[in-house]
Amino acid sequence: MNPTHPKTTKILVRNQPVNPEERPHEPGVYTCASCGHVLFEADKKFDVGSGFPSFWQHAGESVRQNHLDTYGRDRIQLLCNRCSQHLGHLFEDKRTPTGLRYCINANALQFKAEE
Ligand SMILES: [Zn+2]
Repeated sequence: MNPTHPKTTKILVRNQPVNPEERPHEPGVYTCASCGHVLFEADKKFDVGSGFPSFWQHAGESVRQNHLDTYGRDRIQLLCNRCSQHLGHLFEDKRTPTGLRYCINANALQFKAEE
């Protein structure tokens, strides 16, 4: 603990609800690393500590859902709507404003900062 910063004693809890209003972010968009299609807005991004970039909403009609039934487990695969690159998976998540969590492979995305 740094004694000159007494307010840093607040402990961050990973499972607290997502509050986008309180989350600072760099304005911009995330595009498909393969075709450049805009997939997500930076202000819809959050961190769940999973190591994967997570979003609670995609941009426009940019993301296609593909229902998988593998090993008896329902999963929703996310694909780029333009080039069909595999992006990640969609999960239900009560912590987000939409009740959904887009769990995306970092390699599938490219960040473009707002000018
Ligand atoms: Zn694409």
